[in-house]
Amino acid sequence: MPASCGCSGWGPPVPELPEVETVARDLRGLILGATIVGARVSWPRTVRTHAPELFGEAVAGHRVVDVGRRAKLIVVHLSGDAVLTIHLKMTGQLFVVPAGAPEDPYVRLVLELDNGREIHFRDIRKFGRVGLYQADGTPFAAFGPEPLDPAFTLRAFRKLIRRRKARLKPLLVDQAFLAGVGNIYADEALWAARLHPLRSAASLHPPDERRLYLELRRVLAEAVARRGSSIDDYTAPEGIYQRTGEPCPRCGRPIRRVVIGARSTHFCSWCQRLPSRDRAGAAAILRGIVPRDGVAPGRRGTRWTELAGKAAIGLSADEAARAVERERAGRTRRAAATRRARARAAVGG
Ligand SMILES: [Zn+2]
Repeated sequence: MPASCGCSGWGPPVPELPEVETVARDLRGLILGATIVGARVSWPRTVRTHAPELFGEAVAGHRVVDVGRRAKLIVVHLSGDAVLTIHLKMTGQLFVVPAGAPEDPYVRLVLELDNGREIHFRDIRKFGRVGLYQADGTPFAAFGPEPLDPAFTLRAFRKLIRRRKARLKPLLVDQAFLAGVGNIYADEALWAARLHPLRSAASLHPPDERRLYLELRRVLAEAVARRGSSIDDYTAPEGIYQRTGEPCPRCGRPIRRVVIGARSTHFCSWCQRLPSRDRAGAAAILRGIVPRDGVAPGRRGTRWTELAGKAAIGLSADEAARAVERERAGRTRRAAATRRARARAAVGG
């Protein structure tokens, strides 16, 4: 496995709002009403809030009253006004299995339930974190608004973004600005809104703000409806994430990739123009663009689904089979699009 952090290189994408929402919904159906009776911690740092030997006692006796999501955290609401948070980070996975089911070496934490089942938190890279809080002591206050919350109106978005001057890509992935948006959906929303990732928030006109707001909500809502793109692969007919060198679905020119703030960023330099006032300071970053002229790298990052496997929550065996089928269809479709773009380029001289 490459020693990349997964955000600047070709590592697996980190689950974002739609993927985490999907896992939370599936988990809810499996553990609602169950009481936690104990815990086993095999990697101490997985538990953010307690010493590993104290965690089992702290969490035991609490009943699961609801499961939801805040930002990229799965939030398990427990009786006694307690809250358990699970941050999957890059490779975290959850399995709900019968007690005594075999445990592989990557299971970092087990929560034992009173219904004869266990929740296994499996995490190859060990970046995932679990926390146990009192409801009034959660770390949620640090997060910005939820983009799909009905209260998050265009007016609210305008108020928020007009206070900021940062460039759009780093701004959108800042969890204190908006909760739950990461690398994938920031790139997709900016492409859909035809806004350059290095454009400054201060340069946006009211119609730009409106497009960004609408596209951001649309790509997130569609991904939730598709059960999260990085769970069953990115299958939107129009999308640019990790498609460097493939033709832009809108104009056919090659998708470019550049690293902004240690994050891999995909965009179309034709559809997403950078206004001259934002070019100062962007030149050095843009010199790092790959590829220069549409050479498809023929290489993509590991998909979350490849790590998640068939038994992970959020993907039934049926869905896994369909995901494989869609991936095959997607490859064929993208290959055809690349061929058409090359043919156009050849005709155009
Ligand atoms: Zn384009």
